[in-house]
Amino acid sequence: MFGIPRLEYADFLLEKGFKDIVIGYDPELVEGLRDKGFNVHIVIGAFRIDNEFREPRFLAEDPYGRKHVWFGSGCPNNPDIRRRTLRQVSEILEKHDVSSILLDGIRFASMGSGLEAFATCFCENCRNKADKYGYRFEEMKQSVKKMLNAFYDFKQAWEVLQAYRYSQVGFLDLVKEGSGLLDWLGFREHSVEEFIVEVRNTIKSYSGKTRLGAYVFTPSLAFLVGQNYRKFWRHLDFVKPMVYRRGRGVACLNFELAKIAEDLLHWNSWLPESELIDVLYRVFGFRGEEYPLSTKRLFEDCLPISLIKIEFQAAKRLLAGRSELHPIIMLDDPQIEQAVKIAMETGLDGIDFFSFREEEKNRISKISEVIGK
Ligand SMILES: [Zn+2]
Repeated sequence: MFGIPRLEYADFLLEKGFKDIVIGYDPELVEGLRDKGFNVHIVIGAFRIDNEFREPRFLAEDPYGRKHVWFGSGCPNNPDIRRRTLRQVSEILEKHDVSSILLDGIRFASMGSGLEAFATCFCENCRNKADKYGYRFEEMKQSVKKMLNAFYDFKQAWEVLQAYRYSQVGFLDLVKEGSGLLDWLGFREHSVEEFIVEVRNTIKSYSGKTRLGAYVFTPSLAFLVGQNYRKFWRHLDFVKPMVYRRGRGVACLNFELAKIAEDLLHWNSWLPESELIDVLYRVFGFRGEEYPLSTKRLFEDCLPISLIKIEFQAAKRLLAGRSELHPIIMLDDPQIEQAVKIAMETGLDGIDFFSFREEEKNRISKISEVIGK
């Protein structure tokens, strides 16, 4: 379970069979929950920018030199931000015996933060790191600039896609024109993996038994933000894909797709909305009549429940049993019981729920009933 409104709800959760709880760092709550017998997991934002980091030099930079805050975060390669997070991990482990540290936002900006924020990061820290690891920084930057320009004026790309009947081949034809695009995605992955290793090593220096996990993007989107399911097992004890079919924030599949459509329509008002959204589904491999075809509905409605199964199975295949798999789903999903049944049928190592607020007590009881059967 992610979150708890107050310590008073601990007995309720235990009674319903929940033994693992994920919370943000709060020393009193950690100890209170441990005294109650919970396995306590602490989630920390990997690249969060709090007050002291509210300066342009800490932010992610697009190829036009514009800075962006994404998910309340800065550049994933900024050494000061990284040091701060490692200090937080040390502080927690010095004071508490927690079951695991969970990284959140351990990635680069997604399309849900806007296509311009997505087109990052090209700051000086990233330039140095790219040079160090042998990536051709200028080529990546020019390719991402070209991609952004193609988003601003989508006519030519749309014609190519139409010519190929919106098949994957059309995308390949477009992507190959930006030869640095794949390197850019590779650089994102390399940077993310490097920091996961740093966190892992910090944990191991304190405790052999505290585990490391992460909330990661759902498999269909993860490769875009620098997360590679096929490599997680080397450093993560468990992986928590955020399989959100509805929601009003980044990482929710409906929101991520809606933001892509919104930005493209904003810059290209001639684009046919429903056709564009249909093309997005094709790109990400989703098919079916229940998928909404307007940006408004995509923002507000649920994507079909079948999508949960698709993403669970993808995560399971990509991880291949090498890390534990505990996806997280929305607790306020209108079909929560069915979602839990799907999770049980898929054979996962666990399931997590976002997030426990007072008004969700009934749902928690329903989940407990489904799992108890
Ligand atoms: Zn950077």
